[in-house]
Amino acid sequence: MAAEKEDKKQFLQVSRLNSIKTRIIVFALLATIIPSVSMGWLVVLENLDKIVGQGGAHRENVVALRRLKDYLRSVREKIVDYQELMLLDLEGKIVATSSKQATTVNLPDKWLPRAQANKHTIGQSHWDETSQAGVVVVTQPIRTANERLLGVLAAKINFRTINKTLKNYAQGEIGELYLITEEGTLLVSSRPISAKFLETKLVGSTTRKLFFGEGDPQRYYSYHGEPVVGALKRMSELDWGVVAEKERAQAYAQIVRLRNVTLVLVVGLLLFIGLGAYLLGLTLVRPIDRLTGGASKVAAGDLEVDLPVLSRSEVGYLTEVFNDMVARLRQGREELAAINKTLRKKNKELHELSITDSLTGLYNRKHLMETLDNEVARSKRHKHDFAVLVIDIDDFKEYNDSYGHLAGDEVLSRLASVFKKSVRSCDYVARYGGEEFILLLPEIGPQEGVKAAERIRKKVAKEKFAGDGGPIEVTVSVGVASYPKDGDDPQAIIRLADAALYQAKESGRNQVVLAGKTPKKKRQKAKPKGKTVTGGR
Ligand code: GH3
Ligand code: MG
Ligand code: MG
Repeated sequence: MAAEKEDKKQFLQVSRLNSIKTRIIVFALLATIIPSVSMGWLVVLENLDKIVGQGGAHRENVVALRRLKDYLRSVREKIVDYQELMLLDLEGKIVATSSKQATTVNLPDKWLPRAQANKHTIGQSHWDETSQAGVVVVTQPIRTANERLLGVLAAKINFRTINKTLKNYAQGEIGELYLITEEGTLLVSSRPISAKFLETKLVGSTTRKLFFGEGDPQRYYSYHGEPVVGALKRMSELDWGVVAEKERAQAYAQIVRLRNVTLVLVVGLLLFIGLGAYLLGLTLVRPIDRLTGGASKVAAGDLEVDLPVLSRSEVGYLTEVFNDMVARLRQGREELAAINKTLRKKNKELHELSITDSLTGLYNRKHLMETLDNEVARSKRHKHDFAVLVIDIDDFKEYNDSYGHLAGDEVLSRLASVFKKSVRSCDYVARYGGEEFILLLPEIGPQEGVKAAERIRKKVAKEKFAGDGGPIEVTVSVGVASYPKDGDDPQAIIRLADAALYQAKESGRNQVVLAGKTPKKKRQKAKPKGKTVTGGR
């Protein structure tokens, strides 16, 4: 509704119908009133009265007629819109005219009753060939001072002035301005007109639409047959209407242009806001996004994050602080990793120390017992044998006593190396304590165990050690037990192997005894080189 009102207002403003209407009414008033108020009106009254009252062609009448003609001519010359001014008697006969030649006039219908009622009358418009313009006849009653009707003043008024007015107003945005009667007859247009124009009528429905919807823009087909938008302003004084119209496409082009301008403005504004938001995103949101992403990486343990610092703003400062913090964390982690590495190494060393015998480098007793437990479990699982060899150096006390403790240590060390070299890589060698060693040989039964022990014993016997008068030999005695033959308890197996070792010592040393077997007594052999240390326990 508001838009419609706005349209209407705009249309009226553009077409300036109100002021056109005023101008045309002024024209109409000029045409009718001026003669009646001018001073010359008395001349008319006086002379017309003479002529109409006395009749005949006597001298006084001739003078009166001449005066009337002079008056009419002078008014006619002053007002260009009057094509001709005539005085008529009550029978409609021309008494005097401003024209030099004899003339005729088409008086409006009902001119007489209206004159009697003291009213002016406006006739039908028609084309005047002489002036090449539309013409309308207006009559004005002439009365004496005592209200006696003498006749009428008839003015042939052409539409030139209105045509000029309309033309002036129609310049610019208005398509065409024209006057129509309530019957739809066209009177005058802002465009050049012809006789045919005055014979043209607007379609009845269109005329009604324009008059009933006065002031409102209407859509209809013009008298040319073109689709137009137009509005009418009624001039009730004349029963005419002034119509302003424009080709429909042209009228809407303005609205379309307005819509397009609005659209461009809105789109431009949106683009501007969008660009602003994007730039804001670039300068604010994206760095914060990067920071959030970086923080997530750091939280996930990735310290190789180094964010670009793209501005000197608070966010840029925050990014720098973040990078610094991550660098410190990275440095801390590297230091921690180095410490961890050292600790792990130390731990390993400690562990090695805790399970290793420091003199010989063999596993110690504690580790041996753990390994034996595991081996029992493993062999049970796989249904395998394993053999345990308990080796004791013969008469070692005597050796120590003879050559010193350090030499004794050297023997212990050398023998350890002999044992390791004499077994497979999967075999296990430990120092059980003092000068006693235990060898664990996985997946080996009692007989193979004895064979291995024998091989070791012989190897030891071949080794040469420091002695008084040159190198001397050291012998060992070996007790052999095995799983599962001698039980599934590591302690019990060792106990049985130890018992076999005892048997070996008892039987003369430098020999191998299998658990459960009674060895033959050995005869003491002569020492081959140097001194063989053997003897009872
Ligand atoms: P047997 O043939 O009956 O075994 O006689 P043995 O002298 O070897 O046995 P005994 O038990 O009497 O002596 C063991 C000796 O081993 C005593 C000790 O001096 C010596 N011994 C034990 N541990 C070490 C050690 O770490 N270094 C040295 N050098 N000697 C050791
Ligand atoms: Mg011993
Ligand atoms: Mg011994």
